Amino acid sequence: MSTIAAISTPNAMGGIAVIRISGEDALEVAEKIFSPFGKKKVADMEGYTCAYGIAHDGEEHLDDCILTVFRAPHSYTGEDIAELSCHGGLYVTRKVLRAALANGAVNAEAGEFTKRAYLNGKLDLTQAEAVMDIISAKGERELKMAESLREGAAFRKAKKCSDKLLKILGDLAAWADYPEEDIPEVRPEVLSEELKSVRDDLSSLIKNYDSGRILREGVATAIIGRPNVGKSTLFNCLSGCERSIVTEIAGTTRDIIEESVRIGDITLRLSDTAGIHETDDVIEGIGVEMAEKMISKSELVIAVFDGSCPLTEDDLYLINKINKSNTVAVINKNDIEQFLDTSLLEQKIQHIVYLSAKENTGVNDLYDKIQTIFKLNEADFDTATAANERQKKCIDKALEGIESAISSLEIGEMLDAVNILVDEAEQSLLMLTGEKVTDVVVDEVFSRFCVGK
Ligand code: GDP
Ligand code: MG
Repeated sequence: MSTIAAISTPNAMGGIAVIRISGEDALEVAEKIFSPFGKKKVADMEGYTCAYGIAHDGEEHLDDCILTVFRAPHSYTGEDIAELSCHGGLYVTRKVLRAALANGAVNAEAGEFTKRAYLNGKLDLTQAEAVMDIISAKGERELKMAESLREGAAFRKAKKCSDKLLKILGDLAAWADYPEEDIPEVRPEVLSEELKSVRDDLSSLIKNYDSGRILREGVATAIIGRPNVGKSTLFNCLSGCERSIVTEIAGTTRDIIEESVRIGDITLRLSDTAGIHETDDVIEGIGVEMAEKMISKSELVIAVFDGSCPLTEDDLYLINKINKSNTVAVINKNDIEQFLDTSLLEQKIQHIVYLSAKENTGVNDLYDKIQTIFKLNEADFDTATAANERQKKCIDKALEGIESAISSLEIGEMLDAVNILVDEAEQSLLMLTGEKVTDVVVDEVFSRFCVGK
């Protein structure tokens, strides 16, 4: 395999930047572009040691650097690794990288270091995927989930299930191949019990899947309400400093396709903020008519009402559109005298929050309601949980096979048929851990990575 190099730190100025070189020739490449100040020779350096010296490209002095050496197999990739830590300037860092490329290394692809770690058996596929989840985690619970995955919790559970299935397959094969021999008979009741225990273990891996997905990907949210109830004020109050805008540059105008705000550790993705930004009442009027469309495509609806005045026709119109369990009614402006009769709302909507967007009070209650709606406070973020669609699909497919096998046993089908179903389940688990997976899938997994990881 080639020796690869990349800048592993962000593409920005910083205190330090790291150029990572991995592969059979990593130390030779380092030797050519780095001269230690002491008598030390790069080739003699042991793993987990450093040297201070100068990076250079031929005669040209580039920067003072620290070289850290990792020897195979005790490194991130499992190969020899040389890491040059230089001053974190964009230009100098690229020059050091270029020197490495001119002296035998090739550019690393996105995620290639981690891909090699996987290919060299340092990580299974779920752990490799978790590396990227750790990098992109935005909050504590999200990070916790990614950490537990990285540490191998999901892998161990999947492996245990896969081993059990293999044993069952072995028993079935022995019994089918040598019926005359003195092999204990495979009893359907026993087999069924074994399969049920695998099923329960596997199910636990997807129990918290939706909660995790919400923390990672955010919730498609609509903030609706008639003009003047305080939608824009609520939006501003939630956006605080953590507002992000996704724009699409179409022609010469920039169309906002999605904005997001954070409430606690939950990201609310607001795909239609027209009614929130416009101050012109005529345009806001359209907002109410659009409500239906927005409600249908959102996972969470925040319906805002003005607590300081009675319900209007427009409010009633909205109330009739929203009686789904994923709606929170926000009775806003509770910092001033209240004239809203809440009985109708209480009848129609399960989750009601009283707050003042202007004074920024009561927002925590809104957070709690959102947690309740998505069962986030019930989820256990310490247990191993599938972290993405790929993993979830493999587990679903394995569960499908196991369920079918259990039903087949119950209706007394031939063990041959059961064997095929259990084997299918086993194949799905091998795909999950990456023990048996196509290159296309592996490439797809690592294409999500950044260069240098
Ligand atoms: P929108 O039309 O729904 O976007 O409503 P705005 O956010 O533009 O607010 C309409 C008016 O209500 C503005 O004058 C706000 O200052 C006021 N307002 C919004 N939230 C509150 C609140 O919590 N308390 C009080 N007293 N006024 C508020
Ligand atoms: Mg507005």
